[in-house]
Amino acid sequence: MSSSKGQDAELRANVSVDSISSIGAITKRSGFFMIKQRTLTNVITGTGVGLHTGVKICLTLHPARANTGIIFRRVDIEPVVEIPATVENVSSTRLSTTLECNNVQVSTVEHLMSAFAGLGIDNAYVDVTAGEVPIMDGSAHPFLFLMESAGITLQNAPKKFMRVKKKIVVRESDKWAKFEPYNGFRVSFKIDFDHPVLKNSNQNVSIDFANESYKNNISRARTFGFMSDLERLQEAGLAQGASDKNAIVMNQFHILNDDQLRFQDEFVRHKILDAIGDIYLLGYPLIGSFSAYKSGHFLNNRLLATLKQDQSAWELIESDDFERVPTTIIRPLVAENYG
Ligand SMILES: [Zn+2]
Repeated sequence: MSSSKGQDAELRANVSVDSISSIGAITKRSGFFMIKQRTLTNVITGTGVGLHTGVKICLTLHPARANTGIIFRRVDIEPVVEIPATVENVSSTRLSTTLECNNVQVSTVEHLMSAFAGLGIDNAYVDVTAGEVPIMDGSAHPFLFLMESAGITLQNAPKKFMRVKKKIVVRESDKWAKFEPYNGFRVSFKIDFDHPVLKNSNQNVSIDFANESYKNNISRARTFGFMSDLERLQEAGLAQGASDKNAIVMNQFHILNDDQLRFQDEFVRHKILDAIGDIYLLGYPLIGSFSAYKSGHFLNNRLLATLKQDQSAWELIESDDFERVPTTIIRPLVAENYG
């Protein structure tokens, strides 16, 4: 249970354990302060359209025991097939992130996974009545709303974190994605679209979640696409559910949606939302920094796999080893409006 002297000093300077443990997210156990795992309080159901198939899909979120993780269940198949949300189960990254177990798939998991990460929910079952998660409005906010409506329960088990110990980079032509050690959780993303709308928006954003709220600054950012791509995909029988109700759609010159952008730089904020969802497939909240240039689900997932394969690049920290979890991670976890 060693930790760097600098980290200890920062902890003592910034955290009053008594003040934050009173909220209940942290308790003292065996002489150590424990950050608790989280699950949902109640079962909750939502419905929406599938991006790929265009059919109506029912999504039901259930509480799960400590140390379960996030597990998808295809309840339209007899017997029901469980698909754990892990990087090892990623089978395709075309258009969205798809998980597969025993030849059964669930796709478009990234926005829901992003909402779980944003609310710090460790354990849940996700029942779907088709092979994809409904796209809702193209952001993570409807999922966040469902989870907050279900309520969040603290569990009597220490939360675990994955800490990045060394730099890992993956590249594909001019695109790249990178993990680096960082005493907190920070996500930076740069896109570079030569399009009149995107060129006029900020295409480079960095968010440190010690200071900024996922709920307010990321969860509402919608996915985006170009009309020409959409027509091509739909002619090929793909993206049957895609419309301006669940994406920002652009032609060569401007946005075709009636409503306005939710953020001036909504595009790059959505790329951060996607990356947070993909990163949560590690199975644990990350202590580290993610940065990327023009990355997508394919490169994000290659980065996760590369990190996981290199045992010297990461370590698991149980939160009853309290002094090793940075205060920058703890502060948002115990904030009343966390998310
Ligand atoms: Zn997305």
